[in-house]
Amino acid sequence: MSRPWPSSALRVIERGWLSSNQLLCLDEEGATVVDTGYVTDGAETLRLIDAARDGRPLRRIVNTHLHSDHAGGNALLQAHHGCAIWIPPGEHEAVAAWDEDRLSYRATSQLCPRFHADHVFQPHDTLHLGGEDWTALPAQGHDHAMVMLWCDRLGVLASADALWQKSFGVIFPELAGVSGFAEQAATLDLIASLDPAWVIPGHGAPFDDVAPSLAAARSRLQWLQDEPQRHTDHALKVLLAFKLLEVRRMTHDDLRAVVQASHAAMPGVRAHLGDDVAALSASLADQLVRSGVALWQEGALVASR
Ligand SMILES: [Zn+2]
Repeated sequence: MSRPWPSSALRVIERGWLSSNQLLCLDEEGATVVDTGYVTDGAETLRLIDAARDGRPLRRIVNTHLHSDHAGGNALLQAHHGCAIWIPPGEHEAVAAWDEDRLSYRATSQLCPRFHADHVFQPHDTLHLGGEDWTALPAQGHDHAMVMLWCDRLGVLASADALWQKSFGVIFPELAGVSGFAEQAATLDLIASLDPAWVIPGHGAPFDDVAPSLAAARSRLQWLQDEPQRHTDHALKVLLAFKLLEVRRMTHDDLRAVVQASHAAMPGVRAHLGDDVAALSASLADQLVRSGVALWQEGALVASR
């Protein structure tokens, strides 16, 4: 049985596949939202936040990292509410110049409307959210610029994509040819040392039985590390499935364009999966069909959910 939810000032909006969750933190001055989902879900994000903020003004967005499924609603929410956007360091120059290569949107064929960051917070800074103090903890692995938010008093960790109930996010640095597995292992060790009562993940429902999730994450990480090609193959399937959910239908040319963009931008992809982009995209598409994510219809791949 679950333990009681730690605070009525914390509201989790659990989303589907394209968008990250939103953590809404309410206090007397207004509301802060942690992460804003994917751009194509923007109208829904606005509506869900409106329903959860109890009439309080949305004053601030805090991003754990700037992947398109976590920051894709920033521009819309800022335009609508005039709220400030706080981001962790690491990519603030790329945001200021809106460098889509450095911000990963080009390599992943994902969309993220340009936004302006108002404040860069630092690792180990204390953020006041929902009447509590939260520490921004560096969480390398999935994205070396990512942070988690830790509320020691409540024992609550907003883990972003470092730990989900059954897994964790793709280790993007490895795709870029940079070490990421060891950093992810260290992040899992950090989470274990915090001994959280609750984890609010970037995707999926909050959970309070953290040890089995950590054990599963560690064993999966070891399995990927043992044969890194497994990770690269999984990562490209994730990217294709994500794009398919966004656009719903992809021709062979569309599929090749997505795989080509990752292949061109990610040395880890070239190293593990070879240079035959056409064969690679055909094989990935077949794997998506076999796993039930997609089906062929009139010569195009369509999302099956
Ligand atoms: Zn992410």
